Amino acid sequence: MTYINENFQKLQAGYLFPEIGRRVRVFAQENPQAAIIRLGIGDVTEPLAPAITRAMVQAAQEMGSRSGFHGYGPEQGYDFLIDAIRKHDYAARGVEIERDEIFVSDGSKCDSGNLQEIFASDAILCVADPVYPVYVDSNVMAGRSGTIDANGRYAGIVYLPATEENGFLPNPPTEKADFAFLCSPSNPTGAVATKAYLQKWVAWARKNDAVILFDAAYEAFIRNPELPRSIYEIEGAKECAIELRSFSKRAGFTGVRCAFVVIPKTLTGKTKNGARVSFNALWNRRHCTKFNGVSYLVQRGAEAVYTQEGLAQTEEQIAFYMENARLLREGLAAAGFRVFGGEHAPYLWMHTPYGVSSWDFFNDLLAKAHVVGTPGAGFGPSGEGYFRLSAFNSRENVLEAIARIQRSFGR
Ligand SMILES: *Cc1c(COP(=O)(O)O)cnc(C)c1O
Repeated sequence: MTYINENFQKLQAGYLFPEIGRRVRVFAQENPQAAIIRLGIGDVTEPLAPAITRAMVQAAQEMGSRSGFHGYGPEQGYDFLIDAIRKHDYAARGVEIERDEIFVSDGSKCDSGNLQEIFASDAILCVADPVYPVYVDSNVMAGRSGTIDANGRYAGIVYLPATEENGFLPNPPTEKADFAFLCSPSNPTGAVATKAYLQKWVAWARKNDAVILFDAAYEAFIRNPELPRSIYEIEGAKECAIELRSFSKRAGFTGVRCAFVVIPKTLTGKTKNGARVSFNALWNRRHCTKFNGVSYLVQRGAEAVYTQEGLAQTEEQIAFYMENARLLREGLAAAGFRVFGGEHAPYLWMHTPYGVSSWDFFNDLLAKAHVVGTPGAGFGPSGEGYFRLSAFNSRENVLEAIARIQRSFGR
């Protein structure tokens, strides 16, 4: 008899995006003439910047020569990329990160799902609600929860409602929690943390010997240079925080795959006997055991993001998406919607009209405007009554979507 990991059976049956895909397919079959505009899944739409493709082509040619061939690289990433990250993402903002504090990977989704392995099996997870589903589901699979209740919350996980009242930036928990995911700028709400807000979290983590997992996948979308891009801009964060970054949204790498985790060597946790152990050492052990490095080509592509040309070209793409976000924000507000986000994030978080549920609004928006978005309830119970639209699309489609929404729902 082979028993299964029954924790998987605690997971909610329909994962959000397959359910959206199913509904859109049914609608498209029944309405073959409808020109559907997809503002649902958060995937980029602009092609890779020329500086990046050039670097990857060159790397491919190198790999085809005897002298330029690369086999397995360092599991943690090549120094050429790690040094570019240290210089541009950290030193430029006054943060010193050492080489062996950075772990290059093939994506923040994997990193955010895998990092839980370095915590005790009975460690208590804390997340915002609504939240990026990976943080929760990966911990449910690992057995860090009880069963799900009627509201869609798992027993044993601490949820912090992100609401209009708190600006979608909940305060640290008052109940016990050992590690907490923070995502800023936030997917799904588009809310962005200020320095003062992160200071509250760092103070909480230090006081409670807890760890913050700071997901900064959207840091490049922050338009105000005063806002923190890294949690390490907060004093004391190197003793209590891990940071996740990705090239996916920032440089269009969703199909290329490259990201990294920062774990300062000053960050420690304790054993049941009370000894302090470095999380960096644990993650290094885990990474080397289960991961064999990101391809040389991809790391050369990521390095090119930091060249003068690469920075200018990727910034232009981000500015393009953020102009889409501004148009959506203003267009929806003009149609009478209460809209949030979209200022430092490529996501708009809107209140559903007429008190309809977020899934009913999904159906209405698809039926009347042929626009696909993401129901807020799919990100957690406090997302009910809200709806996410993404700014990742062509200008033409964004303008057309706004016009259709104004025609169908304008008040
Ligand atoms: C898109 C996204 C990521 C990035 O995932 P990759 O696996 O690097 O493509 C990470 N966190 C959040 C919240 C995201 O929305």
